[in-house]
Formats: sequence, C-alpha cells, structure tokens
Amino acid sequence: MAAISTFQDALFRVRSLAELANIDPEIIEGLSHPKEIIMVNLPIRMDDGSQQYFSGYRCRYNSTLGPTKGGVRFHPNVNEDEIIALSLWMTIKCAVVDLPFGGAKGGITVNPKELSPMELERLSRAYIRVLADFIGPHRDIPAPDIYTNSRIMGWMMAEYDSIKRTHAPDVITGKPIELGGSLGRDDATGRGAYLCTLELIHKMGWNLTDMSIAVQGFGNGGYHVARLLQQAGCKIVAISDSQGGIYSEAGFDVESLWQCKQQSKRMKGVYCKGSVCEIVEYKTISNDELLILDVDILIPAALEGVITKHNADNIKAKAIIEIANGPILSEVDDIIHNKGIKVVPDVLANAGGVTVSYFEWVQNRSGQSWTLEDVQQKLKEKMITSFSAVWDLAEDEGRTLREAAYVKALRKISNAVEAHGTRDYFVHN
Ligand code: NAD
Repeated sequence: MAAISTFQDALFRVRSLAELANIDPEIIEGLSHPKEIIMVNLPIRMDDGSQQYFSGYRCRYNSTLGPTKGGVRFHPNVNEDEIIALSLWMTIKCAVVDLPFGGAKGGITVNPKELSPMELERLSRAYIRVLADFIGPHRDIPAPDIYTNSRIMGWMMAEYDSIKRTHAPDVITGKPIELGGSLGRDDATGRGAYLCTLELIHKMGWNLTDMSIAVQGFGNGGYHVARLLQQAGCKIVAISDSQGGIYSEAGFDVESLWQCKQQSKRMKGVYCKGSVCEIVEYKTISNDELLILDVDILIPAALEGVITKHNADNIKAKAIIEIANGPILSEVDDIIHNKGIKVVPDVLANAGGVTVSYFEWVQNRSGQSWTLEDVQQKLKEKMITSFSAVWDLAEDEGRTLREAAYVKALRKISNAVEAHGTRDYFVHN
C-alpha cells in the first residue's frame, strides 16, 4: 500500500473546510500551492575525517499575512512532503491566533543523536549558509521543532549574522535568553496547550481534579503540558517517548520523571535502580497502547499520523489535545467526531510556541526585554481569546473545533487576499 502523503492529507482538510466556509475557489486554489520550496544537499566533514551528505528543506508556504514563520526539524524521517504539510499547518495556525505571519517549515533528514556536538554545529551552520538569502527577519523566520533547541538556534543566528555582516536577532526565534531569546519561550507550547485544556475542561463542565491524562511524547511540548496539568491537580497516568511508555493508575510526579529522563536520556531510565521513580508503581506500555488507554484526555505530543483507521475506533479518551502537528489523519475525523470525542486541533492547541516566538521577534525588533510575567500574561490572553473565538464559532455554526479553527483562519486569509481583489472585483468593476 502506498504511504499516505502528509501534504495531500493536510490539503484535503483545507480544501474541504474552505468549501464549507464558502471561500472563493480562486483563494482555495491559491492556498493549494506552496509559494517556494528549497531542497539542499549539505556536505559535512565528520569528526572521523569522512564527508557525509544530509538533505535539507525549507518551504515558505504562504505569506499573505506577513513574513513566513515555522520551525526547523532534525529527524531521520524528514522529507519534502512532510515539510510542505507542516508549512501549510503553520499558515493556518498563525491565522487562527491572529499573528502577522504566514507559514513556513524546514528540516534536515538526520538522526541528531548520532552526531557529535561539533558535527551538529557544523550541520546547523551549513543549513543557514545555503538558506541565508531564503530566510530573513522580514521574509522567513525559523524556530525550534523536533530535536532542535535554543543552542542550535543560537548557532544559526550567528551564522546568518556573519554571512550578512549584521546583527539580526530577529532572524530566528527560540534563541538562548543570553542571545536575545524571550523569557517564557521554553515552555510556551506546553503552556498554550495547558491553557486550552483548562478552557476545554471549564467549557465542558468537567472537574479538573478528576481528569486522568495520557501524554505521548515527553519532549518540550509533552513535558511542560504534563507538568502544568499535574500542578493544576490533574493525574498524569501515562507518558511515553520514542522508546516506549509507562502507565500508573495512581499518576506520576512529572518533574521526577523528567529528571530521570535527563540523566538517562531515555524513558527507560526510570526503570533504573535507585531512581526516584522506583517508589511509583507502574507498568510499561507501548506507544500504541498509550493511545487507546481509558483516560479522560489524550495528548499526542510526538509525531504526526498516529491516530489512523487502525486505532481510531479504539480511542477511549473523552478529549484529545493535539500538541503534535497532524496526529490525527483526516480519514478518521468523522470516526473521532461520531464517538463524541472533543478535539482541540493542533493549529490552536500548539500555537503557544509560535505566539511566544512572535513576542520574541517583537522584542528583538524594538530592543525590549519583557519580564516572564509579562510574556505569560500576554500568552494567556492570546490563547484564551483564540480558544473562545474558535469555541464560539463552533457553537454558532454547528462545527467541530477543528472545522471552526480552519474556518476562522481561512476567512482571515481570504479577507486579506480579497483586499487585493479577486475575480469578482476585476470582472465587475
Ligand atoms: P521534542 O524533540 O522536544 O520531543 C519529541 C518527543 O517525542 C521526545 O520525547 C521523543 O522521544 C518523542 N518521540 C519521538 N518519536 C516518537 C514516537 N515514534 N513515539 C512516541 N514518542 C516519540 O519535540 P517537541 O518540540 O516537543 O515537538 C513535539 C511535537 O510538537 C511535534 O509534532 C512538533 O511539531 C510539535 N510542536 C512543537 C512546538 C515547539 O515549540 N516545540 C510547537 C508547535 C508544535
């Protein structure tokens, strides 16, 4: 069976929801094509003296609402199709939360865990050397994504600065604080998803302290959402990483798990003798088992395409908060909806990251440094306003939250395109 194209799946959703929202066919057609894509081969001198080639990509999908924005992913599965899909989702996401950005995404096909720190720095800088004219503070602004972090963003900014003989902290976000990063960027994605979860629990009339939660993926997004929800009184009963997961009916102390993972670099480290986690009763589970646990809220926070026709019927959660981009394939949207599962879609649930990236860009451009309280307050306002707008649209028009988020975004992009004139204007004036 041919693998499903992630981009075709993303596009199918956009096209069908655009029709539902009565978007002009000319605008739908415009949104069906990425603006520009660059594919590069990066020759890297390895520590043992050999030369290896790595494929890199960057796609600027749509810039109707402003310079394009999106993360850079380092992962062995990175390919052009995935990068284009992710850049389309970024286009929708920035419009859902009313940021003055279009959508982009980039990545390198590499397993960064197999590189030494020096090889990783050479690769990160090589990527920016070839992309220096493609990106820019007014054009396209990268940020971290899977297996990239603030240090890598710092290397990338330094490379851009030396090529352009300038100092341009606004060319990239998610930088170390010392190099112009914003306070509050590190947990922004998880915090945004946490705020959406609280809003959903409130709107549904559920009791916060009754909630059992499973989180797939224990990285930047997954760790912070689990930590914040546990602090708020929810029970985090399952967590996984790429190696597998663990389950405890009594719930985990997220911070202890995180410390164990930092020491051992893997979830399996929690099995280690003498670890603080030894005091917790747990059983090991696979990532597939985690997705179908009988929990109140499921939070996929790893890779796309994990909920498919093979497992959708078996999902037992009452709600899904999508921190990962595209964890639910469009082919099962109806199954999930008909089961009564509330889905807070990725384009809203994980928008906290790009929102604080936007705050970082604004601070860099105006020479300001906001306090953590200021950043968190602004993020809270943005997430709650956006959640409410999507919720109200869904209620008013009888749509799912995903449909409502897309309709909101597509109307915003469509209005901006129409400001230049579409066929109607040119034919009738
Ligand atoms: P990360 O690299 O910090 O963490 C990824 C986690 O997923 C790790 O714990 C890893 O072990 C785990 N993982 C990898 N493969 C897995 C698999 N096959 N099964 C289960 N777990 C697996 O990445 P992140 O930044 O937390 O990103 C996670 C997701 O959130 C991605 O889909 C990303 O696009 C999305 N996202 C991240 C941000 C952000 O600001 N970091 C913003 C928006 C969306």
